[in-house]
Parts: sequence; structure tokens; C-alpha cells
Amino acid sequence: MKTDFDVIIVGGGPAGSTAASYLAREGLSVAVFESEMFPRPHVGESLVPATTRVLIDIGAMDKIDAAGFPKKYGASWTTPGKHSQLNSPALSFDFDGHAAVQFGERDQEGVDRPYTYHVDRSKFDLILLKHAESCGANVFQGARVLKVDFDDPSLVKASVRFGPRTVDFSARMFVDASGRQTLLGRQRKVKVADEVFDQYAIHAWFEDLDRTALAATPEETENILIHFLPISDTWVWQIPITDRITSIGVVTQKHQFAEANTDREKFFWKYVRTRPDLAEQLKKAKQVTEFRPEGDYSYSMKEVSGDRFVMIGDAARFVDPIFSSGVSIALSTARLAAHDIVAAFKDDNFEKAQFAEYERLQRLGTKNWYEFISIYYRLNILFGAFVQDPRYRLDVLQLLQGDMYEENPKALAAMREVVTEVENDPGHVWHPYLGNLRVALDPVTA
Ligand SMILES: Cc1cc2nc3c(=O)[nH]c(=O)nc-3n(C[C@H](O)[C@H](O)[C@H](O)COP(=O)(O)OP(=O)(O)OC[C@H]3O[C@@H](n4cnc5c(N)ncnc54)[C@H](O)[C@@H]3O)c2cc1C
Repeated sequence: MKTDFDVIIVGGGPAGSTAASYLAREGLSVAVFESEMFPRPHVGESLVPATTRVLIDIGAMDKIDAAGFPKKYGASWTTPGKHSQLNSPALSFDFDGHAAVQFGERDQEGVDRPYTYHVDRSKFDLILLKHAESCGANVFQGARVLKVDFDDPSLVKASVRFGPRTVDFSARMFVDASGRQTLLGRQRKVKVADEVFDQYAIHAWFEDLDRTALAATPEETENILIHFLPISDTWVWQIPITDRITSIGVVTQKHQFAEANTDREKFFWKYVRTRPDLAEQLKKAKQVTEFRPEGDYSYSMKEVSGDRFVMIGDAARFVDPIFSSGVSIALSTARLAAHDIVAAFKDDNFEKAQFAEYERLQRLGTKNWYEFISIYYRLNILFGAFVQDPRYRLDVLQLLQGDMYEENPKALAAMREVVTEVENDPGHVWHPYLGNLRVALDPVTA
């Protein structure tokens, strides 16, 4: 059966353009339909080093290197108070409320450098989309996919709106990379909102923030800084965008924003003021973009593949962004899905079973991220302890670097054990520090 394209991809974000690059390089005819006109702003500006592997693989690394994005050598966490008295029977450590890692401490297979980047997503996403085009993909911008039709078992049909016109295109395979708009997840009614994480973020760019004033050491100045606020499960990201621009975002639970019953700006400043050291520096800087909200995130899908389709990146699952995981998940799932799609074309078989390995790895990687994040919210001083303990430091770093696609990583297993012990023992010295966001810690749940 003749179709317009071999593969239709909806969404030209990092997941869609990476999948398009892989598939076009294999000689498949690929169409990417993107509803916006690039460049467009997007949240999600700090990468983890596992992205390097994929960017090298698709041949885009040199273009990203040439863009002049700030180098990111590590990550740091700061807290409002001192906790040096928190030696635990299980783990002995002197915690001053500050933790940091540098990526160069652990070698990563396929990653040729000790840093990754913080990126202006309007530029980063444009480079990747143009790269997909240079690999041979047909990219259509201003093209919104309205629905996908699987009625004919021999092909997939997508209805695409270009301004006032709607045109149908056919393909043998469909990839949903529509991000948090989750086109297929909504159409197929398989999207499941997370029961525990219902976060909300407000963010903007600031000019001339003194980043050195907030970093514990000069070498941490260009890290991502995560500042904890003295409000349950609430934190602020600080991400360098250029020499002078810094992205700042407050992340909290959505109900806190709803209950505050105020506007975004007042809410942002009210929360920031709970960390006077941060508020003082931020007031001296100049806000250069409007506050943007991000809500309705953290969900999974009952299915991420089926006959003639796969979902990748945020279209397949979204986990809380505290460890800067999103773009890495987008790139890694694009790579894994492309592998199975190429095999499906070789076998001329597009049944769901062809994508079983993709679905297994997608679920494994996002489950590991989710559990890591859950443990962190439950007991973030435990994270500080593990980062400082030489027995676990490199295993935790492995996760922070984005190397997530293995069964029960060592650091997760050990953290799960300690957090369970603390929860079951009200007399434990760490018990009062348990957070409110609790999910079942089970290594086999998706
Ligand atoms: C508050 C917050 C902070 C974050 N911080 C980080 C961070 O520091 N680091 C990090 O790595 N990640 C972060 N993320 C996550 C990151 O933003 C995403 O994981 C990442 O952008 C996913 O890429 P994607 O390609 O799957 O989706 P997107 O980047 O969202 O791309 C999807 C594209 O599809 C297009 N599209 C959607 N529907 C249609 C349609 N029907 N037709 C045509 N086109 C369509 C959209 O216009 C969009 O361009 C954060 C997320 C949030 C909410």
C-alpha cells in the first residue's frame, strides 16, 4: 500500500526531531508536523550528560557545541537551615544543608566530556529541528495534527491543519512526540494523572543576577542550583542561560498556588522571600521575561505503543523536573523507539509486539527517574547523606547523569531501604524530616 510517508511524527521538540534524525538517516521518508513556528520559548533548560551520547549519535553535537550555550559541570542543592546534628545510626555524615556533584567524577560510556549544557530552548530546539531536516526529514511548521486515524489496519492517517486548511496524510508508522499536549494519550484515553505529584511552576528570566553570591564555591557558580524553600516540597531552580541571563523558577504543589488566591507575580515573590539570601540577590537583578506558569504535569500512560504507533518523550510520560530529566528522556526514548521502528520496517510488521522492547525500556527508565524523585521528596536529607557517602556517591551520580536504563540501580535500592527504615521508626533522628509527597516504593511498579 502506497502512503505519503513511511513515518509521521507529531511534534518538533527534542523527542520528535531526534526520532526524525535517526529515522531519516536510515533512509526512511519522514514527516514532522509541528504546530508552532520555531524559534519558540520552552521550559526545560538544563540538560544532563546522558544527552551527549544521543547528540553525538545523530551527528548534532558539533552544532550544539557551536551555539555557545553555558557549560554545565554539575548540580548543587542549597537549603535554608543547617542540619549538622543529623548523624544517623545508618549513615554517619555531617550535613550542612548543601550538596553538590560534578559530572566529571564518574566516566560515562559514550560521553566524551565532563560537562553538558544549559540551553535557551528556543535556540536548542531550532538547531535540532534543522538538523532533522538536514538528515532528510520533511519538516512542516505551523502544522497542527488534529487527530490520528487507525481504522485502516494497513496505514495510519493524520489530519493536519495548516491555517484554514485541513489535509490528510498517510504513513505506515506514527510517532507521538507532542509533549505534554499528549495527542494520542488523550485521543485514546490512556493518560493517567499522577496521584501524588500535582506540581505547579512559575518562572522567568532575570538579567545580571549575581550567581556567585548564591553558590557555595566558585566552581559551583555555573551549576544548576536547586534552592529549597522552608515550605514543604517547594524549591527554586537557578539555571544560567547566558553570561548575564539566569532562569529562575518556583516549583510547588498546585494547591498552594490555588489556596494563595493571588496573581503569579505576587505568588512568586512571596515564595522567594522565604529565602532571604535568594530574594536579596534577585531583587537586585532585572526581570526580562514575563512570568510563565506550567501546570498539569506528572502523568503516565496505560499504553505507550500499539499497532503502528509509539509515544516518546513527554507524550509518553512526564515526571517532576527536579533532576532535569526531561530532555534526556526525550532524546533517549527517541533513540530506543527509532531502533524498534527501523526493525519494524525491515520485518514489514508494525504490530504492537514489535515495540515491546521499546516499551519495556521506556517504562524502566522513567520508573527509575520517578522513584529517585519520589525518594528525594520523601526525605531530601537522605539524598545529601548519600551524595556525601563515598560508598554511594558515584552510584547517585550515575542517576544524576541520566544513566537510568537498568533494573534496580544500586543507589536506588540502598536509598529505598533507608527511607523505609526511617518511615517505620518514629524515633529515628530523620523521622521529623519526612516530606508529604509519598508514593509506594516498589521496584516493579511502572
Ligand atoms: C516546570 C518544568 C521544568 C522543567 N525543567 C527541565 C530541565 O531543567 N531540564 C530538562 O531536561 N527538562 C525539564 N523539563 C522537561 C522538559 O521541558 C520536557 O521534558 C521536554 O521539553 C520534552 O521534550 P518533548 O520533545 O517530549 O516535548 P516538547 O519539548 O514539549 O515538544 C513537543 C512539541 O510538540 C508540538 N505539538 C504538540 N501538539 C501538537 C500537535 N497536535 N500538532 C503539531 N505539533 C504539536 C509542540 O508545539 C512542541 O513543540 C521541565 C518541565 C517543566 C514543566
